[in-house]
Parts: sequence; C-alpha cells; structure tokens
Amino acid sequence: MIEEQQKPAALQANAAVKSFGRGRGRHQVLFDVNVEVWPGECLGIIGASGSGKSTLTRIMFGLEQPDSGDVLFNGVSILGASGRAQLRSLRAASGIVYQNPFASLDPRWTAGRSIAEPLRLAGERDERGIGGQVSRAMELVGLEPSEFMGRYPMDMSGGQAQRVAIARAVVKDPQVMLADEAMSAIDVAARMQILDAFAAIRERDPNMAMVLVSHDLGVVQNIADRIVVMHEGRVVESGPSAQILEQPQQEYTRLLIAAASL
Ligand code: ADP
Ligand code: MG
Repeated sequence: MIEEQQKPAALQANAAVKSFGRGRGRHQVLFDVNVEVWPGECLGIIGASGSGKSTLTRIMFGLEQPDSGDVLFNGVSILGASGRAQLRSLRAASGIVYQNPFASLDPRWTAGRSIAEPLRLAGERDERGIGGQVSRAMELVGLEPSEFMGRYPMDMSGGQAQRVAIARAVVKDPQVMLADEAMSAIDVAARMQILDAFAAIRERDPNMAMVLVSHDLGVVQNIADRIVVMHEGRVVESGPSAQILEQPQQEYTRLLIAAASL
C-alpha cells in the first residue's frame, strides 16, 4: 500500500562512517553503511566479531556519533544541535539488552526493582501501577512474578537473569529495541526461552522495531524477518531471512550459514 510505504523507517543509518584511533593507529570500522529497520520488523544483523555490528547499532540507537552520515528516528535526524530533541525521544523510546546480564543488572537489586527502574526514572510514582507493569513484563518473558519479583541476580541462571534484563528493556513498551549478542553468553538450552521471550514481545507490540545482533546466524534466523550481513565494516548482503538462508549470494554468507548454531 502506498500509505504504508510513505511511513518512515523506525531507525535508519544513511552512509554511516566511523573510525577509531588517531594518526597511524586510526582504523576505519564503518564504510558508508546504510541500514534501516521498519516499524513492526525484526532485523537480524550478523557478521564475525569485529565486523562493526555493535558500532553500527550503537550509532543507530544514538549511543555513539558517526564521523559522517546521518541517523534518522521516525524520519527525523538525531544528530547535531537540531537533532537533540529527537535524540531524547529515541532514548525514551528504546529498550536495549546486552550480552552479559550479570554486568547489566545491579547485584544488590531484586529483579522487581531492576525491572521497575525505567518506570521510576521516567517519573512514574503510582506504586500499584508500577507493580502491575513489572509483573506483566515478567510474564511476557516467561518468569513467574511470585517467584522472581524478590530474587537477586546471584540466585538466577544466566538465562533467567537475561530474561530479567529483557523485561527491564520492554517494561516501558519501547518503539525500538536492540539486543546485542543477547544470547551469546547463554547456554544453548536457555537460548530457546530467550527466543520465546522475543517472539512474545513482538506479538504484544506488533509495531515495535527490533534489531537482533549476533555473530551467530543460528540465533537470529528463526525470528528475524530480514537479515543484514556485515563484513569488515560493510554490508555485504541483505534480504529476507529465507532468501539469505536459502540463496546466499556471497561466499562469506555461506560460511556464516555453515557455522550457525541452534
Ligand atoms: P562487532 O560488534 O561486530 O564485534 P565492533 O563494532 O564492536 O564489532 O568493533 C568493530 C571494530 O571497531 C573492532 O576492530 C573493534 O576493535 C573496534 N572498536 C570498537 N569500539 C572501539 C572503541 N571504542 N575504540 C577503539 N576501537 C573500537
Ligand atoms: Mg559486538
């Protein structure tokens, strides 16, 4: 539908360039990268470690600045002085999950307190309302609230702790979500529960744009609608997941398929 096509991407990187270091140590990490994710879409970004996935997605989510190029959130740039308000909107509308849940959760806080934190930071004061939202977020990721509300990270498995981190990321119903290697530190058996949690989140929020980053194609292939393959700072291939898996155009993609777990 024409109307659908006129909606802007949820997030879009246009010709993103990024280097780190100075002088002879300078080293370019992204070369004119164009990537977008649409409302309601789950985008998988795969590639070997060091290929630039984290740098690209940190730039897309406003956590880092590109050297040149642009980043748009709902069609409006988040960069520069004129992008400040849009960057704030993006920060308020994004949920982010990282690789190691024990590093991202405060060991002194119960799961309930960690999950409630984004609501409190956003100024919510209605404790019953907060409690209800926290319980719903726990249920969404398959954690029984009566069992986990008062539990500390040290009394959880990696998979349980990661689901707490995911519940915290989605408790405010983000419009855009980033999970960067969220399953890489989780044992294979527990990865399925994490995948189920992402599937449940997509079902609850059908307009959310989700970006799943992994060095392992296996962990994104069943949930991503579309896959972008990165290699040494460039997008080497992208397309619907089935097409990437069944008709990879690049030798590099074939290697990633052969190495996939799950
Ligand atoms: P990936 O997430 O695909 O593993 P990254 O985006 O983390 O890749 O890293 C891409 C390249 O950029 C790597 O060579 C990495 O060492 C380098 N890099 C990333 N962040 C920094 C930084 N803050 N300072 C210097 N080099 C960095
Ligand atoms: Mg990374």
